[in-house]
Amino acid sequence: MPATNRKRCLVVGLGISGLATAIRLRRIGWEPVIVERAPDRRPGGYFVALFGAGLAAARRLGFDHAIPDRSVPGGRTFTVTRDGDREPGLGFSDLAGDRRMMLRGDVESAAFDALPADVEIRYATWPTRIEQDGSGVDVTLEHGGVARTERFFLVVGADGLRSTVRRLVFGPHERHLHRLGYMTAALALPGPLGGAPPRDGISLFEPGRALWLFPFVDRPHSLLFSYRTDDVDGQFTGRPADRVRAAFGPEPAGPLLGRALDELDDADSFLFDTVEQARMAAWSSGRVVLVGDSAWCVGLYAGMGVSAALAGADLLGTALDRHAGDVPGALRSWESRLRPFITGYQRTGVRGRLFFTPDNQRQIALRSITARGTRLPVIGDALRSLRSRSRVNRERDFDIARGSSSAA
Ligand SMILES: Cc1cc2nc3c(=O)[nH]c(=O)nc-3n(C[C@H](O)[C@H](O)[C@H](O)COP(=O)(O)OP(=O)(O)OC[C@H]3O[C@@H](n4cnc5c(N)ncnc54)[C@H](O)[C@@H]3O)c2cc1C
Repeated sequence: MPATNRKRCLVVGLGISGLATAIRLRRIGWEPVIVERAPDRRPGGYFVALFGAGLAAARRLGFDHAIPDRSVPGGRTFTVTRDGDREPGLGFSDLAGDRRMMLRGDVESAAFDALPADVEIRYATWPTRIEQDGSGVDVTLEHGGVARTERFFLVVGADGLRSTVRRLVFGPHERHLHRLGYMTAALALPGPLGGAPPRDGISLFEPGRALWLFPFVDRPHSLLFSYRTDDVDGQFTGRPADRVRAAFGPEPAGPLLGRALDELDDADSFLFDTVEQARMAAWSSGRVVLVGDSAWCVGLYAGMGVSAALAGADLLGTALDRHAGDVPGALRSWESRLRPFITGYQRTGVRGRLFFTPDNQRQIALRSITARGTRLPVIGDALRSLRSRSRVNRERDFDIARGSSSAA
């Protein structure tokens, strides 16, 4: 196809949504230009899971083979107390279905390597104004203190939870972001954590606060602290490591929790953020569309952030290809197909907060009973079978573009 016939499209954000969108649009003959606010790639991140819905999309996008599965085969999970008592626990490895576990950077790097070399990337660049008419979108882009306006056929906002595209086109963050009242701190440990066997999944639960140690087959644990708070804004005052320590006090931390808190103290940086969801009445307006966390951030507790980003971007390319010449029609069709799944993931994201951070002793006790049951011969099989047929698992593994289970 001659270059003049290609659809020039602006993708804002070089995260997983932006990369997947650019790969998919390039494949259908479009000409994506990616702008990224950071001065370079952002390959960082901690533990993420990739479920069937995302794996199926990654397969079609051509990079599933480059995403490692770092989960521990037959891995054991324990729940511990501050004093060091331990008993069998429930972890990610107990979730049924088609899933891999890795670091976010594994997916970012697989997607980046799959991006065709002729896709233009501009770092340290971001939009400051977006205006559209019936045939295109004028975007003012800022780079190095210079603002320049360019015209695009379509603009894709893939710029994350606090999206600038969403703010410029759909209104202020407060209108779309919903806090769940929880904070998380995450760190991929640089080395083994004393007292934590490297291949074991370990968690510690107390009402409204939890520590998770996610195991990998080939690298040290990834740490996740999760806690409930009535004062999210107050959590952003002072040092994040001190906030986490205060949230897990005032009782003595004990050996494992104490070492985990020390790791945060010593880390150069770690993820520290409130858990939020983006909830929007519509993900597009004319020729501007949002994809990934900017549109629907399902929240950390859904475990579907990366999978939804890949599935949404993949389906967007399919819809634009099928409705060639009718962008609004393509975007309507894309959203009506995708939305029921995202709504389901968001529901899981709200309910899942109690899986990650039980609210009270009763939930902690119930979890302990379920974990023991899962290890009994007959009851364990029955529980696993129930779990694999649950709505949550069916949604996680459903290949949205193909319209069937990813395992089928
Ligand atoms: C550095 C990093 C680490 C992460 N770590 C984890 C993790 O450990 N576990 C987890 O579950 N999730 C993590 N996430 C979130 C997870 O990657 C997302 O939920 C999921 O991949 C969907 O991502 P996204 O591409 O929609 O948004 P994001 O991953 O947030 O990517 C958005 C991109 O847009 C860029 N951007 C933002 N504003 C602008 C702007 N105005 N102009 C241009 N570019 C802009 C950002 O720099 C970023 O590169 C992380 C995200 C990032 C950026």
